[in-house]
Amino acid sequence: MMRAVYPATFDPITNGHIDIAERASKVFDELIVAVFDLPAKNLLFSAEKRLAMTTEAVSHLDNVIVMEYSGLTVDFAKKQNALVMVRGLRVMSDFEWELQLSLTNHSLDPNIETVCLMASQEYSFLSSSILKDIAFNRGNITHLAPPIVIEALQAHIRS
Ligand code: ADP
Repeated sequence: MMRAVYPATFDPITNGHIDIAERASKVFDELIVAVFDLPAKNLLFSAEKRLAMTTEAVSHLDNVIVMEYSGLTVDFAKKQNALVMVRGLRVMSDFEWELQLSLTNHSLDPNIETVCLMASQEYSFLSSSILKDIAFNRGNITHLAPPIVIEALQAHIRS
């Protein structure tokens, strides 16, 4: 049985992340979508809110569960008996960061492999930051994020 972890901040989850989770769920027997609780970057949503939105957004996938984690991703993967970490590759600039991350993680635990899936063409421009930028400027995001995220962003703008 092959279990994989898809770790990210998900601030918030976009249709690009969901696309990677859907495709990874077909490749692996079990997928843990892992929401990192305290990354070193400015966040819009709390860990609880990101966990709730992510859980709702992938609830249609039977072999996918969502968990929150802290600390090193390799430690979390090992604790969950997952030998693979899934990441998404959008553009060339992602590659440098993902390579560095993958080599770092491999130096920490050589038993855990990183598998990158290529972003689907329709989401290859999409990031959580771009989504938030469009939303804050009152643009249409209905094709870019699930309803629960759209509602949360609208509520944030109203408040
Ligand atoms: P983190 O803070 O962990 O980098 P991100 O949300 O920026 O969180 O990205 C998490 C992972 O998901 C990365 O591997 C990233 O390349 C991938 N990803 C983000 N957006 C997309 C997208 N639109 N299509 C495919 N992969 C994506």
